[in-house]
Order: sequence, then C-alpha cells, then structure tokens
Amino acid sequence: MEIKFCKRCLYSSDHPLGVIINDEGICSGCKIHEEKDFLDWNKRFEKLEKIVKPYRSKKGENYDCIVPVTGANDSYFIVHIVKNKLGLNPLLVSYNKYFNTPLGIKNLANLRIQFNCDILYQNVNPISVKRITRKTLRKYGNIYWPILAGHTVFPVQTAVKFKIPLIIWGAHQGLEQVGMFSHTHEVEMTRRYRKDHDLFNKEANEIISVEDDLKEKDIWQYYYPNDKDLRLNNVRGIYLGNYIRWDPKAQHEEMIEKFGYLTSSFTRTFDCYDYVDCYNYMNLHDILKLYKHGYSKVTDHASREIRFGRITREEGLNLVRKFEKAEPQYLNFFQEWLGIESKALIFLMDQFRNLKYWKKIEPRKWIFNGWSKLNSEKNSYNEKSNSFSFINNNNFKYKEKKDGYITIGKGWP
Ligand SMILES: [Zn+2]
Repeated sequence: MEIKFCKRCLYSSDHPLGVIINDEGICSGCKIHEEKDFLDWNKRFEKLEKIVKPYRSKKGENYDCIVPVTGANDSYFIVHIVKNKLGLNPLLVSYNKYFNTPLGIKNLANLRIQFNCDILYQNVNPISVKRITRKTLRKYGNIYWPILAGHTVFPVQTAVKFKIPLIIWGAHQGLEQVGMFSHTHEVEMTRRYRKDHDLFNKEANEIISVEDDLKEKDIWQYYYPNDKDLRLNNVRGIYLGNYIRWDPKAQHEEMIEKFGYLTSSFTRTFDCYDYVDCYNYMNLHDILKLYKHGYSKVTDHASREIRFGRITREEGLNLVRKFEKAEPQYLNFFQEWLGIESKALIFLMDQFRNLKYWKKIEPRKWIFNGWSKLNSEKNSYNEKSNSFSFINNNNFKYKEKKDGYITIGKGWP
C-alpha cells in the first residue's frame, strides 16, 4: 500500500494509532484539532463541573478523585485544574518508572508541595521489572511496557481498593494525535484502549510464555481489576482534554510561571517540557520508535505545533529532519541497569528495524527511508517563526552528581 501524507501536518497513513486521510488530503487528527477553535470551551468546562460534582466527598472523609501523576507530562496542569479550578481533593498516585532523572524527582516533590496533596507511590520490585523489560525488549523491541502498564493500571487498582470511583486523566492520546474520537464523544478510560494502544495489544498475562523465566509472580501487579469489581465500585476515568482546550505548550508555560515546573532541552526533539522525568523516553525508547515506525516523537511534537499554527509544515519538517538523526543518549545507564552488553543491545535493536523504512547496505550500516524522507517537500532554510521557542530553565541532571537512574527519589526540601 502506498504511503500517503497529510497536507497540513506531518502524519502519514501508516500511523500506528490509525490515521484517516480525507479526499482533500487532510488527516483525521487535523480535522478533530479544528474543534479546538469552534467548540464553546466555557460551556464544556461547565459540563465538566457538573460531571465531577456528585463525586465530592460530602463529609470530607475520603478523597474526591484519583489523579495519576509523574514528574513531567502535564501533571502540574492536571492537578492545578482538579485542585484549584474544580475545587476537588485528589489522591495523587504515581508509578515508579525507575528510569528517573533527578529533575523528574524534583518536579514530583515540588508538585506535592505546591498543591498540598497526598500521594501514593507504587514501586514494583526491580527484579520483576527487569525481567519484564528484558522480555518485552527482546520480543517486541519495547522497553516501556512495564511503565505504560503500571501508569495505566495502578490508578485503577487504587480506585477499587480505596473506593474512590473517579479517575481524572489529562488528554486522550488517540484523540489528540489522530482524531480517533471527537471531543464531543466525551470518551472515557477503557480496558480495551489500554490494551490495544498503550500496551500494543499485550495484556500482562499475554507476555508470559512457557519457555522463559518470566512468571506469574513477576506480572500480577499489572493485572487490570476485573469487570465485576469495576462495576461494583462504579469506577470511571475521564479526560480533561474533552472539556478544556488542550494546548500542552501553553499549559506547561503557565505551570513554569506559576509553580516552578522545571524543564530541559533534549537532543532528539525541540520540546523541552514532555518526558523530562525519564532518561529513556526521548532516547532509547524514541530511537526504537524510529526503527519500528519510520518516525519518532519529534514528528508528533512538530505536527502538534503545526496544527496550533505556531510553525508552518515546512518548518516542522525541517525540525524533524534535524532532530530525528541525533544519537540517543544514556544507553550506558540502561545497559548497566539491565545487565546487558552494548553490542548485544545494538544487535537486539537492529532486529526491530522496519525494512519498509530501513535498508541494510552492509553489516551494521543502514540507510533511513522513513516518513521525513518519503515526504516529498524539499528543505528550505529561509523561513523562521519569530515567536516559536520553548523555555529551557534547567537540565536532566539537576544538582545531583550521581550518574545513573534515581531508582527511589528522596524528594527535595
Ligand atoms: Zn494532519
């Protein structure tokens, strides 16, 4: 099948979440993005207020809702809306991803202090996490399965255990990126979406196979609660992006200004705000995305900025071509953590190069023919957007001298 590109953004018909390109050549993500400019967002926010109202604990003897948080990615904004705008008392829950940067630990500690919220941390034992990571890396070329699984299941388990039925998430990725739903569908959290998209169609029990050392005892923490428990407790998860005009760049900048959110530059994208809590997301995980899918996170970031009209399509493509080539950093941290040799890691990674987008010309030498190459537009260097920049107010390492992951962060005063 011939690959088609959206005329407005940089997505192609081969997007793993599924993109539909219409007769005018515009993709479903861009079409749904148009809603941001014509929906009545005041009305939509009023609707959100109505939805959450019955969940307010009458006597203040339980939390009103659960908010999943990390040391990055919209967490400040979500808690700001929940606590300061909706006036709810949330229980924050955070799954320890183990690839923590000092900056992420600092951001999470500061979040707890700024918003004066209780927080629950889940630390799954590192031996099991390493076993799962080794397995998903070998079998699917993915090091992020335990993190995505943990981040999406721990809040739901907590909702059942503590009888707090409402979970509040930020934006819905399928809606934001590829326009899988309209904002007005008010889609909610489902087991199905988590499995199909967050977990690339592999539930916890499905990654165990008879021949390996991964066992039930390593994986049970990632099991989604059963339907009966969810029903009995009326658990539901809503997305703020359906009720608020979601703009991650503007929102992060507000959080930097108001609450001291810390940011960092990256070598593989121009966005300084997402994923600052993780050594791997924008490095090892991102290069694997480029190997498997022919594009990487910078294409997501550029497409988002094009849709908001802050850069042109041409400028976006230039940014992609510039950043996607960068070498991933901190692979040595990962090798040390997992106990894998550099050569073995590179060999494993190469197994996942998609031959649709990569051509082997000699041993360990590949030619890239991914989205940004197939996209027919030529590079042009004359255009510049005056107002387009991201605030870089810190860096990954923060003030910590230690090199490597902060497996358990102590927080900062
Ligand atoms: Zn598009």
